[in-house]
Amino acid sequence: MTKILKNNNTLLKFIQCLIIVFLVLTIGGCNIEVNKDVLNNSKENVTEKGKLKVHYIDVGQGDSILLQFEDKNMLIDAGTNASAKNLIKYLNNVAVKKIDFLIATHPHEDHIGGMDDIIKNFNIGTMYMPKKTANTKTFKDVVSAMKSKNIKAKEPVAGEKFNFGDTVCEIMAPNKSKYDNINNYSIVVKVTHNNKSFLFAGDAEGVSEKEILKKGFNISADVLKLGHHGSHSSTTNEFLKRVKPKYAVVCAGRGNDYGHPHKEIVGKLRETGVKLYRTDENGTIVATSDGKNISFNCKPGSYNRGKK
Ligand SMILES: [Zn+2]
Repeated sequence: MTKILKNNNTLLKFIQCLIIVFLVLTIGGCNIEVNKDVLNNSKENVTEKGKLKVHYIDVGQGDSILLQFEDKNMLIDAGTNASAKNLIKYLNNVAVKKIDFLIATHPHEDHIGGMDDIIKNFNIGTMYMPKKTANTKTFKDVVSAMKSKNIKAKEPVAGEKFNFGDTVCEIMAPNKSKYDNINNYSIVVKVTHNNKSFLFAGDAEGVSEKEILKKGFNISADVLKLGHHGSHSSTTNEFLKRVKPKYAVVCAGRGNDYGHPHKEIVGKLRETGVKLYRTDENGTIVATSDGKNISFNCKPGSYNRGKK
C-alpha cells in the first residue's frame, strides 16, 4: 500500500514538473514570438523607446527629411516630382503610415515636388506651409491634393512651439510676410531632444538668417541642415557662429547644376572643424539621438565643393 502511495507521489511530482515545463515553454515561446514579430516582421512603425531618428533622405537635388520618435513621424519637405516614387518607397520601408507633422518649407519644386503624392498616400496630421503661392503646376498639384483630403495648412508663426514625441519644436522663420526671394519664406525649425538639437534651415538665405539672429532666438544646435543646399547665399558667418554646430548636413544631388555645396561653405565648415555629411556623397543619412548623444549611420563626407 505504502509503496503504491509512494509511486503515486512520484507520479504526481513528475506530472507537476511536466506541467511547469510545458507552461514555461509555451508562455516563454509566445513571448519570444511576439517580440520577434515586433522587431522583424511587423510593419508597426516603432523606433526604439526615447530615441529620435532623423533621416536626411537622398532625393537628388532637393530636400526631404523624416523625423521619427517612437510611433510619431514628421516630414520636412518631399523632394522633387521625379523622386516621389522612391520617397514613398523609403517611407513604406520604415513603416510610416501617418505623418503627424508635414512641413512644406517653401513652394519650390525641389521641396514640394513629391508633396501631392505624399498627401495622397499617407494620413496627414498637422501641415505647415508659409503664406506664399507659386504659379506652377507643382504647386497647384499640392493644393488640389490638400483639397481632396480636406487638409488646411497652418501658417507658421515664428516663436511658435509644438511637441513632437518627447521633443520640442520651435519655428524660427519666416519673420516677415513679404520677401523678394521665395527661398526666404522657408520655414526654419529647431527640434530639441533633451540636450541635443537639430536645426532645419530649408532654403533660407542670409536675409532670413539675419532676422532670426535679430529676434534673439536660441539657435545653437548640434546638427545644422545647411540652408539652400550649401549655397553661398546662406550659412553666413554670424549665423554659423551662433548655431555653432558639431555636424552639418547638406542635401544636394550628385553633380548638380548649381555646384552645391559651394566652396565658400565647405571651406568655412572645414576651418571650424564642423563634420560634414552630404547626400550627394553619403546617400541617405540617418542620425539617431538618445537626448545625450548623436550617432550617424555613415562616416562624414568630404569638404570638396560640389562638382557640376
Ligand atoms: Zn531648394
